Amino acid sequence: MQKYFVAPEQFGEHYIEISGQDAHHVTHVMRTKEGDLFIVSDGEAREALVEYTSVEAGTVKARIVEMRELDREPHYDIVIAQSLPKGDKMELIIQKCTEIGAASFVPFVSERTVVQYDAKKEAKRIERWSKIAKEAAEQSHRNRVPSIAPCMSWKQLLQHVSSYELVLFCYEDERGTQLRDIVHPFVMERREHKGNAKVMIVVGPEGGFAPREVEEITSAGAHCVGLGRRILRAETAGMLALACLLYETGEMGGV
Ligand code: SAH
Repeated sequence: MQKYFVAPEQFGEHYIEISGQDAHHVTHVMRTKEGDLFIVSDGEAREALVEYTSVEAGTVKARIVEMRELDREPHYDIVIAQSLPKGDKMELIIQKCTEIGAASFVPFVSERTVVQYDAKKEAKRIERWSKIAKEAAEQSHRNRVPSIAPCMSWKQLLQHVSSYELVLFCYEDERGTQLRDIVHPFVMERREHKGNAKVMIVVGPEGGFAPREVEEITSAGAHCVGLGRRILRAETAGMLALACLLYETGEMGGV
């Protein structure tokens, strides 16, 4: 069933209003008719099964049939910090990691980032990435749309390390510690705590990380982990680490 995200104020007591591009999608792309059912979420806690009622001046009105409580969000808030990859790979990363269950994305620039960071294009790019996150969240029926942070410098990223309970720094040259060595004991220990765990996964660009960066981030408190003896592409590493982390936390159960 089709799902749309709207702003919380568009939720009325009995009706929900959908405007803009989503309204266009309801009427013209999905060709929704009176009585057709779909799902609307406010991107936070509320989700409703609604019935298409009417369209007026580009705004769709839909009657709330029932409110739904189904929570599809993981109990781990997992942030993907990704050094800007080439081309449109960031789009793929955002789309796939949103489906899997990432909480948000932090693009950053590190020593070997190849793409030129362009402050002027920043707003446009974040807008595009946010749209991709929204569409992927709708497609995968999430309750929440992952946020995209403004691009950080390496220094800013280092300063963020201490605000997470766990930071996993994916490093292909790590020989001793594999992902599970850190994640398994953390998950065991975390079972005793309430609230969502805050975890960050850090992935490098095509050229990987410089030795200096490895030193700096581990001294800041990150754990250097390997994801196997194969070298993964920049866009694969985050998805894999995220999936493994959710597997370990027992988040793969059905609804
Ligand atoms: N420097 C490498 C490729 C880097 S791959 C080279 O050119 O040979 C891009 C990023 O993916 C890395 O910075 C790392 O964060 C992650 N990555 C790739 N393979 C990995 C592995 N086996 N273990 C952990 N991280 C990996």
